[in-house]
Amino acid sequence: MAQQIVKIRYITHITHDVLEIVTDKPEGFTFTAGQAVAVSINKIGWVNEVRPFSLTSIPEQYFLEFIIKVYPLHKGVTNHLLQLKEGDELILHNTFGAISYKGKGVFIAGGAGITPFISILRDLHSRKEVDSNKLIFANKTKEDIILEAELKAILKHNVVNIIADENVKGYAQGLISESFLKSHVSQSCKNVYLCGPPQMMEAVEGQLRQLNIDEKSITKEEF
Ligand SMILES: Cc1cc2nc3c(=O)[nH]c(=O)nc-3n(C[C@H](O)[C@H](O)[C@H](O)COP(=O)(O)OP(=O)(O)OC[C@H]3O[C@@H](n4cnc5c(N)ncnc54)[C@H](O)[C@@H]3O)c2cc1C
Repeated sequence: MAQQIVKIRYITHITHDVLEIVTDKPEGFTFTAGQAVAVSINKIGWVNEVRPFSLTSIPEQYFLEFIIKVYPLHKGVTNHLLQLKEGDELILHNTFGAISYKGKGVFIAGGAGITPFISILRDLHSRKEVDSNKLIFANKTKEDIILEAELKAILKHNVVNIIADENVKGYAQGLISESFLKSHVSQSCKNVYLCGPPQMMEAVEGQLRQLNIDEKSITKEEF
């Protein structure tokens, strides 16, 4: 794909450290739900700083949306996104990604690892095919949960939020453990979708192995 420059139409915080960025969609731009784009900022000094971000809009929409957790301490691209405003530009490089929907199953996300699943779940919802798909969403605090209300509206009772650093009534508390997974992922589950930071992915993959979930049924991407 040739590089394409897109204008930011809308940029706002949706949690204390997560931005929603809506841009133009170039003519002929296609992707499948769950894919990511290599993105850089069209400003002097930033053009070659390319980072991967999932598309959180759905393929049919006339705009593109990104949901991006910012890391001010890295002094990298996500920190610089905090300076951007409507009318500034991003450069889209290639589209790629390991995650695509392969059928009903359990989505397990840690923090910003929810982003490829947002597009997939919105896409299924738009086609009325969410069915009994389930989401396990792990975060440090309740304030960190991205799009909590929307995900609840899409998945109804099939969302389980688990929070590591706080004890909040109505939410599971702690880190994902083998016994926690056992109560939410049935052995006959045909598809597990996993996305999150490396330590979380490693732990959950080990736990899924212990539960005899077939490795071939796991679709994953590390953030
Ligand atoms: C396929 C894919 C899709 C993704 N999609 C999304 C998405 O949709 N939304 C999202 O939020 N994230 C997503 N990510 C993660 C996202 O790409 C990274 O968070 C992003 O690249 C971070 O860029 P950065 O320049 O801000 O920081 P980095 O590139 O991580 O770091 C910049 C520099 O900061 C320094 N640094 C690194 N770690 C630390 C640290 N702990 N403390 C201090 N300094 C440090 C290093 O010198 C580094 O070179 C995705 C990742 C992948 C692989």
